Amino acid sequence: MHIVFAASECAPWAKTGGLADVISALPKTLVKMGHKVQVFLPYYRQVAKAFDNPAVALPSVTIPFPSYNRFARVLNGGVVDGVQMYFVDLPELFDRESFYATPSGDYPDNAERFGTFCRAVIEATKVLGVPDVFHVHDWQTAMAAVMLRSIYYFDPVFQKVPAVLTIHNAGYQGWFPPRTMETLLLPWDMFTLDKLEQYDKVNFLKGGIVYADAITTVSETYAREIQTPEFGNGLEDTLRRRSGDLFGILNGADYTEWDPAIDRNIAAHYSKDKLEGKRECRRDLLHAFGFEGVSESAAVLGVVSRFATQKGIDFIVDIMDRLMQEDVVLVMLGNGEEYYERLLTEMAERYPNKVRVQVRFDNVMAHKIEAGADIFLMPSRYEPGGLNQIYSLKYGTIPVVRATGGLQDSVDEQPNGGGTGFKFWGYSANAFLEAVQRALETFRDKAAWTSMMQRAMAQDFSWTKPAEEYVRVYERVIQNRL
Ligand code: ADP
Repeated sequence: MHIVFAASECAPWAKTGGLADVISALPKTLVKMGHKVQVFLPYYRQVAKAFDNPAVALPSVTIPFPSYNRFARVLNGGVVDGVQMYFVDLPELFDRESFYATPSGDYPDNAERFGTFCRAVIEATKVLGVPDVFHVHDWQTAMAAVMLRSIYYFDPVFQKVPAVLTIHNAGYQGWFPPRTMETLLLPWDMFTLDKLEQYDKVNFLKGGIVYADAITTVSETYAREIQTPEFGNGLEDTLRRRSGDLFGILNGADYTEWDPAIDRNIAAHYSKDKLEGKRECRRDLLHAFGFEGVSESAAVLGVVSRFATQKGIDFIVDIMDRLMQEDVVLVMLGNGEEYYERLLTEMAERYPNKVRVQVRFDNVMAHKIEAGADIFLMPSRYEPGGLNQIYSLKYGTIPVVRATGGLQDSVDEQPNGGGTGFKFWGYSANAFLEAVQRALETFRDKAAWTSMMQRAMAQDFSWTKPAEEYVRVYERVIQNRL
C-alpha cells in the first residue's frame, strides 16, 4: 500500500509535541511492514538549518489564489528509515521564527500557510505518485481531506483516493474568518453548520471530520470522550455523526529513541533486569538541576510538559505547599504559556532546596528526566494520547496520572501498588495529591517499588500493534471508495 502523510511536525526536524513523535515513528513502522510511505512537511526555517542545499524534487508547483498564484518548490529530504521525506518550500509562508505563533499570538495568515501547504502536497503527488490513501493530521492538514472532496472533486486521479484524519488534540481546531473560503478557493456552499462553519468561522478540523473517509484519534478513551461536550470542544455533535468511522488507536513509543537500555542521552544504561544504571541517571539528573546532597530516601518527582492549562499545571501549583511537606524533590522541564512559566518559576524560588524548573524545550533533558526521576507527574485535564507516561513506564519512572484519554488506557493502578502507576479520577487537586501520596507510600517499600518498576518496564507499547490498526483503517476506507 502507498500512503502519503501530510503533517505540520515530524521529529527531529520540527517538534512542539507528541504529533512530531508520531509522524516520525508510524511511517517507519509501516515501511517495515512492507508499505510505501512518503511524508510531506513544510520547509520551516528550523528544517532548512538541517539541510545544506537539498535536492529539488519539483522546481515549481502552482497553487492558484483568487487574484494571484503561489509557487512551491518540493525538496527531496532523502529516505530516512525507508521513509521518503519531502519538504514543501514556500519561504514567504514558512521561513519564520516559529511554526505557528510568536509570543504575541498566532501568525495571522495561518489559514493561508497551512491551506497552501495542503494544496501543494495534493498537487505534488500527481507527479511524485498518487497514493492509495492520504493520512492527514490535526487542523493544519485536515483541509487536504476537504480539498480532495471539493476543489479536486473532478480530478480523475483522486476520485478513488480516500483520506484518513487523525486528531491528536481536539482542543486546537484552526478557526479562521469566513473570507478564508475565498482565499482557499473553497465553494461558499460548504460554509454551513453541517460542514465547515462553526460560530461564523471556518473551522479546519471540523471540515476534516466531515470530509475525511475515516477519523482516528490517539486513544480509545479519547475517541469516546470527544463525543461528549466536556471534551469535544464544540465538535462533539459533528464527531458523534461520524461515530461509525471514528477509531481510537493508542499511540506507540519509538523504542529506538526511548529505551534506557540504548538511550544516547542519559548517563548510564539500564533495563528491567539490570536496574543499577538508574541510580547513576538519578545522580546525573539532580546534578543537571543543580541539586546537592539530596538524600537517598527522597523521591525525585519529574515533569516534562507543555506548560498549558490542558496539562493540569495548576493542579501541581495547588498541591505544592502540601507536597513540599513530603520527602521529595521536584524537577520540571517545559515551556508554553507565560502565566504558568512564571507561576512555576515562583514555586522554585519559594522552595529553592526542593523545586527546580527549566523553562525551555530540551530533548536531551527530557530524556534525562525520564531516566533519572523516580515518579513522573502527568495530571492532565485531558490527554488525547500522551507519550510521556508511556516513556516513563519504559524507564521505570512510575507515572502518576489523571485517568483521562491515553493516560487512562496506558497506566494501570491496582490495590497496594500492584499495577504500573497511580491514577486519580476526579477533577481535583486533592485527588491528585492523594495519588502522589499513594505513590510515595509504595516508594518507601523498596521491594514493592522495584517490582512495580519492573512491571512497568515490561509493558510493550511499541508501534507494531498501532500500525497494524492503522493499516486496517486504510484498507477499510480504500475498500469503501472502490
Ligand atoms: P503533547 O503532544 O500534548 O505536548 P505528549 O505527551 O503527547 O504531549 O508529547 C509530548 C512530547 O514532547 C514528548 O516527546 C515530550 O518529551 C516532548 N516535550 C514536551 N515538552 C518538552 C520540553 N520542554 N522539552 C523537551 N521535550 C518536550
